[in-house]
Amino acid sequence: YPNAGLPNEFGEYDQSPEEMREYIRDFAASGFVNIVGGCCGTTPDHIRCMAEAVAGLSPRIPSEGTGYTMLAGLEPLIIREETNFVNIGERTNVTGSKAFARLIKSGDYMAALSVAQQQVEGGAQVIDVNMDEGLLDSEKAMTTFLNLVMSEPEIAKLPIMIDSSKFHVIEAGLKVVQGKCIVNSISMKEGEAEFIRQARLVRRYGAAAVVMAFDEQGQADTIERKVEICARAYKILTEQVGFPPYDIIFDPNIFAVATGITEHNEYAINFIEATRQIKERCIGAKISGGVSNISFSYRGNNVIREAMHSAFLYHAVQAGMDMGIVNAGMVEVYEEVPKDLLKLVEDVLFNRNDNATEALTDYAERVKGGGRQIQKDLSWREVSVEKRLSYALVRGITDYIDEDTEAARLKYATPLEVIEGPLMDGMNIVGDLFGAGKMFLPQVVKSARVMKKAVAWLTPYIEAGKAATSDGSYTGKGKILMATVKGDVHDIGKNIVGVVLGCNNYDIIDLGVMVPAEKILAAARQHNVDIIGLSGLITPSLDEMVHVAKEMQRQGMNIPLLIGGATTSKTHTAVKVEPQYHNAPVIHVLDASRCVAVASQLLAENKASRAIYAANIREDYNKIRAHRGNRQSAKRYLSLAQARANKTPLDWSSYTPPIPNQPGVHVFENYSLAELADYIDWTPFFSSWQMAGKFPEILEDNIVGIEAKKLYHDAQSMLRFIIDEKWLTAKAVIGIFAANAVEHDDTAVWSDETRSNRLATLHHLRQQNQKAPGQPNYSLADYIAPEGTPDYVGAFAVTAGIGIEKHVERFEKNLDDYSAILLKALADRLAEAFAERLHERVRKEFWGFATAETLPNTALINEEYQGIRPAPGYPACPEHTEKRTLFELLDVTNRIGIQLTESCAMYPTAAVSGWYISHPQSKYFGLGQISKDQVEDYARRKSMHPEEAEKWLSPVLNYDV
Ligand code: SAH
Repeated sequence: YPNAGLPNEFGEYDQSPEEMREYIRDFAASGFVNIVGGCCGTTPDHIRCMAEAVAGLSPRIPSEGTGYTMLAGLEPLIIREETNFVNIGERTNVTGSKAFARLIKSGDYMAALSVAQQQVEGGAQVIDVNMDEGLLDSEKAMTTFLNLVMSEPEIAKLPIMIDSSKFHVIEAGLKVVQGKCIVNSISMKEGEAEFIRQARLVRRYGAAAVVMAFDEQGQADTIERKVEICARAYKILTEQVGFPPYDIIFDPNIFAVATGITEHNEYAINFIEATRQIKERCIGAKISGGVSNISFSYRGNNVIREAMHSAFLYHAVQAGMDMGIVNAGMVEVYEEVPKDLLKLVEDVLFNRNDNATEALTDYAERVKGGGRQIQKDLSWREVSVEKRLSYALVRGITDYIDEDTEAARLKYATPLEVIEGPLMDGMNIVGDLFGAGKMFLPQVVKSARVMKKAVAWLTPYIEAGKAATSDGSYTGKGKILMATVKGDVHDIGKNIVGVVLGCNNYDIIDLGVMVPAEKILAAARQHNVDIIGLSGLITPSLDEMVHVAKEMQRQGMNIPLLIGGATTSKTHTAVKVEPQYHNAPVIHVLDASRCVAVASQLLAENKASRAIYAANIREDYNKIRAHRGNRQSAKRYLSLAQARANKTPLDWSSYTPPIPNQPGVHVFENYSLAELADYIDWTPFFSSWQMAGKFPEILEDNIVGIEAKKLYHDAQSMLRFIIDEKWLTAKAVIGIFAANAVEHDDTAVWSDETRSNRLATLHHLRQQNQKAPGQPNYSLADYIAPEGTPDYVGAFAVTAGIGIEKHVERFEKNLDDYSAILLKALADRLAEAFAERLHERVRKEFWGFATAETLPNTALINEEYQGIRPAPGYPACPEHTEKRTLFELLDVTNRIGIQLTESCAMYPTAAVSGWYISHPQSKYFGLGQISKDQVEDYARRKSMHPEEAEKWLSPVLNYDV
């Protein structure tokens, strides 16, 4: 992407305002029409030029002919017919949320922004923004707020729904939103001419539109009027305005029921039935609505409201409703609405009898005030066995699973029917809830545990039956082979994906870690699998995946290939992997929440829909490749010599490096885990479970808070066992050595103070992209004093994963993936905590340049101390083979047992290694991309073949090899 002209965190300043305008135009002309980016810190000139350029671009993402509704914030959201319900966050609405209104009125936009952030974290997929309030300058509030949203990548990744009843406010929003948004709403209330004018404008801005069932006579409340108005609007939009049908979203008006007025009793039915008919008549159009309206009569009583929302959505979605404005926290799981309440609610929604409203209101009176009491309620044990199984699956309760599975086995003709019947039904609910963002990963993994236990109970009976009848072996939706590639040992992500797919009735063949290509392909053949999934965490694994793809091509396989793992990306997949393998689709799968959708499309029964899916992916990846081609000419790089001439200017003549208190090597065996526990950074723990949010705030989050607390509680109790029962052993080795910067960005590590005998040479890389005036081209080499000044460098390697295998095995044997994954995630946390704690001790004791430092853990996590501990493989020093130097220097493998794989991954996985640098001005940075001259220079310095250097550096090359 072009950098929008502002100096970024590394001080790059890519374009003048005018250049940038030209750039955006060229970019758009080449077909890349989705302009995203922030404006914070940009000069007014930049903003003006950028706005001018962007204003001319329309439509930004065409939906024509795709069959999908495509929306986009920084990330695309594609709504297909089979997409689960899309929930649109409603809290950033001044008419719907008093709290939000207060923040906007008082001008506290930062706090208002955090409301949007909470929506994102709570699983909203689109964010509705409404500023319609009598006392507000709505146009200004809309512009200000959306500009802020656009500069928060975490929020701006979602598409925006600009919500206003005044078109000029909508237009103000359209001017500032990037990506493709939804306008909410336009309608024919002021006649056809105005409707057409507004629709044309919306098209020019490239947005989709909500069209209200509203005409010159008013809002439609009967089925006939809703359908008639929408059909008329559809005809006008598609025939006269050229609006793509997929960009039309009808809102057939959700009105409150149970108001006491008889005519209102049909409102839920009318919406649901109209939805069904509109979907039939207006092909391609989508249906949305404001869900909380339905329960307006029960304001203040969330028990009733949640139940009503849940029941209403359940039926409306079946009728074809695609999306809705909801507070995701205010939708109860349909299956969990108490049955007596559900009946009362559905009586009201479907107007089943004259007393329905009265009965529900009576019930509401009874539950008022008390709220929901969450006690250990065993009433669920009294329902049918199918419902018990489903309840246990959704709630992840294993306590009664053997007993219930046995009851089901006795009831059904064959054990297979138990799996295919009640168990799969329960898992389908789990899958749907997860897909809809209503269940979170830890819950799903717990559900999988219940499923596995139930299946394990039945397996002996299935086997016995097979022997007798030799048929009826159980087959799932398809076989998926999963493996972490050769040289890599990381498997948390892969295991999570396996569990999620397993839950969705795919058979998983997991080959584990460090799996060579030959083994993957042989196993794929042997098991006749339908999909191969490769995973990897470290960058060298990217190359290994390319190799596997090449091998699949060479051996003429035609199985779809999925690529996933932390360093993988859609771009890498499109540019490097896909071109190697043509026989079947190659798809990047971002995370566990996407894997089911991808697998089900790939294995869809309908051949045509499979082909369309594959073609769409292929086209998408073609575009990415073309885009890369464009991008490469854009950025300017300095020659290596120029970059070196612009190194960090540190004045060594006036600097005395700190002399270490205890130089040399120190080994720590059996470090206290209890001490490390206090140094854990919990935020990444939650992200490993795909729960986004900062710790500890995440525990109080409106939406994920409850699940985050449960997970944290589980983590704490396992941590206690890990410590008390010594499940894991933590070991480390550190060393502090005399060192000096020498030629070519190298650092010489000396054997002693005579500084004549080299123990090792560290080879650093240097940023090469052009910087703003005054900004250096950083290299870690800059922070070490040249010869003549007696400086030092430290090295460390820590692990907290020794002894983990037998506990992981124990859990896996017990079919408890949840605990196995939890343990691995905790070991990773302890290793990072160990790195943090030792670094602190190095500063305070071993090197001793910060004896007086007293920083709380939050300050440590924020890196507020003097010095850094860059780790090979991370942004400042992304080349992994430097770990080999580090391991030799400290004799890591012999001393503490961490091993390096051929790709330089560390095993045990829960390990960190890196350098200590003490200079007060040293800081973490990202290398960015580098040119061929540096690669050649680096290869010479490391006595490596240039092609090999290119392989290790492939993720940071600014050219294609
Ligand atoms: N507190 C976080 C730290 C993760 S980063 C956690 O607990 O997960 C992992 C390691 O990478 C750090 O301990 C540090 O050694 C190193 N590191 C961080 N940023 C870096 C950068 N820009 N370049 C090189 N190494 C970096």
